[in-house]
Amino acid sequence: KQTKPGGDTIFGKITRGELNTKFIHEDEHCVAFNDLEPQAPVHFLVVPKKPIVRLADAEDSDGQLLGHLLLVARKVAKQENLSEGYRVVINDGPEGGQSVYHIHLHVLGKRQLGWPPG
Ligand code: 5GP
Repeated sequence: KQTKPGGDTIFGKITRGELNTKFIHEDEHCVAFNDLEPQAPVHFLVVPKKPIVRLADAEDSDGQLLGHLLLVARKVAKQENLSEGYRVVINDGPEGGQSVYHIHLHVLGKRQLGWPPG
C-alpha cells in the first residue's frame, strides 16, 4: 500500500501517462479512465494528477480541485449517456474499502444500484 503523497501508486503512473491508459477525459488537473474490474456496465474513475492519498488527507486548499473532480464526473457521465442516473463514490481508508492510495472518484451506471452498499 502506498500512503505517501507523491508516492508511486499505479494511479500515479496512469495519471502521468506512463501506462498508455486510454483516457476518456483529460485536462490540466485530472484524468478519467475505465476501471479494470468494472462493477457496473459503466464504471470509470476520475483521478487528480495531484496524488492526494485519500479524502481524509485532503486540505482546505484542495477544495477547488475536489469540486472540479465532481464536475468532470458529471461531464463524463453525460458523455457516457448516463441520463437514467449513476453513483459517485469515494472509498476512504481501510474501512471505506480503499485499495489504491491516490484519491479517486468512482462513477458507476447503466444498472440499478442497491443501497446500502455491502
Ligand atoms: P478503491 O478500492 O481504491 O476505491 O478503487 C480502486 C479501483 O481501481 C478498483 O475498482 C480497481 O478495480 C481499480 N484499479 C486498480 N488498478 C487498476 C489499473 O491498473 N487500471 C485500472 N483501469 N483500474 C485499476
